[in-house]
This record gives sequence, structure tokens and C-alpha cells, in this order.
Amino acid sequence: MSNHNVPEDLQTEIQAIRDQYKERLVSDKSKLTSLLDGLSLTNAQQRANEIHLILHSISGSAGTFGFEKISKEARRIDEKLKEAASHSEQDTVIKLISNDVTHFCQLLDGTGVDNASSSSQSPSTDKTPRKSNPSRSAHEGEVWLIEENEQLAAQFSKQLVNFNFKINTVTLKEALKLADKGGWPDATIIDMDGHPFNAKEDFKTLFTTTEEAPKGLIMLSENDTFAQRIKAAKIRATSFLKKPVDLSKLISHLEAVVNKEKSAQPRVMLIDDDKELCSLMKLKLESQGVQVSILHDVRNIVSELNEFRPELLLLDMEMPEYSGIDIALLVRQNVQFESLPIVYLSAERNLDKQTEALLFDADDFLVKPISNERLISSIRSRVQRARNLEQLISKDGLTGLLKHATIKEHAERELMRARREESPISIVMLDIDYFKRVNDTYGHSTGDTVIASLAALLRHRFRQTDIVGRYGGEEFLVILPNTQEHDAVKIVDAIRIAFSEMQFLADNQTFCCTLSAGCVCSNDLPAQIDASELVEAADKALYASKKNGRNQVSTRQ
Ligand code: GH3
Ligand code: MG
Ligand code: MG
Ligand code: MG
Repeated sequence: MSNHNVPEDLQTEIQAIRDQYKERLVSDKSKLTSLLDGLSLTNAQQRANEIHLILHSISGSAGTFGFEKISKEARRIDEKLKEAASHSEQDTVIKLISNDVTHFCQLLDGTGVDNASSSSQSPSTDKTPRKSNPSRSAHEGEVWLIEENEQLAAQFSKQLVNFNFKINTVTLKEALKLADKGGWPDATIIDMDGHPFNAKEDFKTLFTTTEEAPKGLIMLSENDTFAQRIKAAKIRATSFLKKPVDLSKLISHLEAVVNKEKSAQPRVMLIDDDKELCSLMKLKLESQGVQVSILHDVRNIVSELNEFRPELLLLDMEMPEYSGIDIALLVRQNVQFESLPIVYLSAERNLDKQTEALLFDADDFLVKPISNERLISSIRSRVQRARNLEQLISKDGLTGLLKHATIKEHAERELMRARREESPISIVMLDIDYFKRVNDTYGHSTGDTVIASLAALLRHRFRQTDIVGRYGGEEFLVILPNTQEHDAVKIVDAIRIAFSEMQFLADNQTFCCTLSAGCVCSNDLPAQIDASELVEAADKALYASKKNGRNQVSTRQ
């Protein structure tokens, strides 16, 4: 195998599964041979069915293990057999089985299944070996800014740092050099009006020197024309923003690309009767950062789905006891899995059958054998779309934060947990100062930008375990589990300062805003206080901040 990129332990595991698979082909061959023995008019139909199951399964898996010729031949004979079984006389079926299946068994011998070594045939998927930690560059979490205008570069860097993006201002030349050495970062912002770009007819040749193209490419230009946008699209830019840049838009685009890269590993459940294929796919998917659970006994599907909470179900079509469609329907009977994406992965090439399968609430049909790369990209895009949908349902549209009712539920749950664990919990209420004036002076949509920017700041500054929600119009509630009041105040005050330094843009004018906050901790309040009383206490503290002149953080009153 040409495995210069595959780590050794993974290679060993893959080889072990291939060895098991070879053993299975040997046993399939003896099953076929015994089905050929004593073939007669009376048993031809039944034997043709059994042979079909074996050939169908081999056609779907052999290619993945490197036996492409065997896979193709199995598929060819299987299709011929299916055709003959439905249209021809029994003796034609018998002849076909005798000739073609005998020939197939010889092929199994001839390709040396018994002694096929890793060097005789390499698995097709080995053409796409990857590093064990895929798509991770040396510049993870960074954003590169290719901006020649020093003033603009400094301004962007100053503002974006507030959102915890690691900004690195580079020239195009430096970027190409760095990318060549350690790959591209999660996101790259390019000012198209800069000297290396503005004269170019198209950007096609821009990244030909680096091994891979940049990810998360955000293009900026004063010139918002079709021609300019097409130029950006041709180099696969994910966003185009007009200058002067609306900071909150830039942040939300950056969040979208950076979070896409960083988002938790997709969780996939695999259901296929082919054990070796399952093991190989699990190994390969896991090496690409996908969490995989194989469902061994379909009867446990509901409990295992609840336990593993997959974001996608990869389902074989043809299995001995239940078909993929049976299982898809059973899954959909459970309301909590109504929106779980189901993708068939099957050797079935018949388009009518594929279409029929999709009628039963499944989302896609992938044909085996499939390259690792296609499978991974299909999984990632499906999971991403499902996540986006989930986001739309439970999160506030403008800010992407939890909605009022949901954050209150979280407050109750977290307070109960804090009691159980005897740990402190802090609650913060934040409100933008004189926000009505922003709306009145610059318009409602600029007001929206300010709200969205503060939301992004909150999302970035708090820990993963903190829970942030939009409590009302320009009012936010944050739950900080396991946090003492003085620690909460420290974080909130840093956010207060960062927010006051953010510059917003309206009608080519810049302006700033401030916020006030109230912060309380369960430790400092009566033991039996409930969540809504805790929130009320935070609100009172916020009111004190307002009364004392705004732009400050207050604690329990
Ligand atoms: P204070 O410092 O006392 O908080 O003064 P304020 O002007 O911020 O407070 P007030 O509660 O009087 O005004 C809040 C305004 O926020 C009123 C409302 O029109 C506006 N608002 C609420 N939701 C939204 C929204 O989604 N978008 C925009 N643009 N404005 C909103
Ligand atoms: Mg199967
Ligand atoms: Mg306000
Ligand atoms: Mg308010």
C-alpha cells in the first residue's frame, strides 16, 4: 500500500480487517461451491436467491478491500442472474449459475484470495490516505488577514481580537509561503482592492503554488459588482463583503467558517450486515474525525439511538432479516428521530430501487463501493445541514443565542445541578445602555447589528460550559455554572470594556455603545431561592448599574 500518510497502527488495524475479509471471501466461495453442487430444476429458484445475497454483498464490499475485479464481476453476474430469474426459463437460470458462478469461484481462486497480500491488491480507498488528524493545519484557530492598507489592517485586528479570533496580518507572498509549509488556517480574509489583486483579470492562478486551496475565504472589496463577485466565487470564496465592512457581518461570516471547522465531530451510526465492511468503515471514518457507532443488533435500535444520539444514520439496503426501508420506517415511527438524516449506503445500482428507497423518508442514496473522501464529505455536509436546522429551531434568529423560554429552563436545571453538586452558580443580566437612541439615530437595522455584535462577543468570551441567552430585545442572560461571584464579575467587566471599544458603522459614521450588568451568585443568596428569584436578583443588580450611571457591573443589592 502507498501509505506514507497513514499512521502505522491504523495500517495494522486495516490490514487485520482485510485479512478477516479475505477469510470471509474464502468461506463465501465454499458456500457458492456447495450451492452449485446438486443444482436442479426444483431448487434453482431458491439457490439463485441465496447466490444473489452472497454476490450482492461481495459486490458492495470487495472493492473497498481492494478486490475491485471481484467486486465488478460479482455485480455483473448478480445483475445477469436477477434478470434471468425474472424473465427466463429455469434451465437458462441453471446454465447461468453453472457457468458464471463457477467462473466466479475460479476468479476467487485465481486472484489468490487465500494468499492475497497487501501488496497484490491495494484497497481502492488507500488512494485517499490522510493524516490521522485530518484537515488540521499548523494554523488551527487562526485567521489570516491579507490587507495592504495598514490602517485598515490595524483596525480589523483590534476589533476582531475581542472575539477571540487569532488574527495574523500577512502579505499574499507570506501567506503562500506559510500555507505551503503548514497548510491554510480556518479562515483567510483578503482585501481584493490591494495591490496584488486589483489588476488581475481573474484569480485562478492565485493559489496554484500551494498544495491545497485556502478554506473559509472571505473577500472584501469596495467594488460590489457582478464581475468582482464572480472573481471571488471562481476561487471558491465562501463570502464577499463590501467595504467599508460591517463588523458584525464579518464576525458572523468568520464564525460560520471557523465554527464549521471546529464544530464537534459528527456522530454517525452504521447499520450493515457486512461486519468486516463495518469495521473498516468505522476505522477510516474515525481516522477522519467522525465518531462512529456500529449497531450490531437491529432490535436494540431505539435504545442505541437514544444512547449514542447520532447526527446521521448510514443504512445498508439489503440485510438478511430486515431491509433498510423497514429500519428507516421504524426509526421514523419515533418522533424524536423525525429529523435524523438517513443515508442509504448500498450496492444497489438500480435507479428505480434507489428512488423507491428514498420515498420512505430517507435523505440520500450512496452506492457502494464509495471512496472515503466522498463518504466523508457527504456525511459532513448532511450533518452540517441538520445542525443548521436545529439552530434555526431552538435559537434566536438575530443572535444565534438561546431564546427566552429555553434560557429560563436552563437556569432552573443548572440551579438544581449546582445544589446537587454543592457548587456555586452565578447569573448575569446584561442590557445595552441607551439603546433606544441607537435605533432613533441610526435606524433599526443598525440597532440589530449592535445586538448581534454583542451576542457574538458574549458567545466568544464566555466558556463552553456557560449558557448564554437573549432574554429580551437588547437584554441578555448568562448562566455560569461552578462560578463564584468575583470570577463572574471579572469576566463580565472585561466584556463590558471590550464592548465599549467596539466601533459600529452607520452612514459612514462610527459610533460606540456601552452596557450595564448585574451579577449574582447562588452562594450569597438564601439556600432555597428558585431560578426565577435568582434572575430577579440579577435584574435588581442590573437596575443598580443603570441608576448609578450605566456602563458598569453591579452585584447583589
Ligand atoms: P437603558 O440604558 O435604560 O437600557 O435605555 P434603553 O434605551 O436601552 O432601554 P429601553 O428599554 O427604553 O429601550 C430598548 C429598546 O430596544 C426599545 C426597543 O425598540 C429596542 N429593541 C428591542 N428589540 C430590538 C431588536 O431586536 N432590534 C432593534 N433594533 N431594537 C430593538
Ligand atoms: Mg447488506
Ligand atoms: Mg437598554
Ligand atoms: Mg432593556
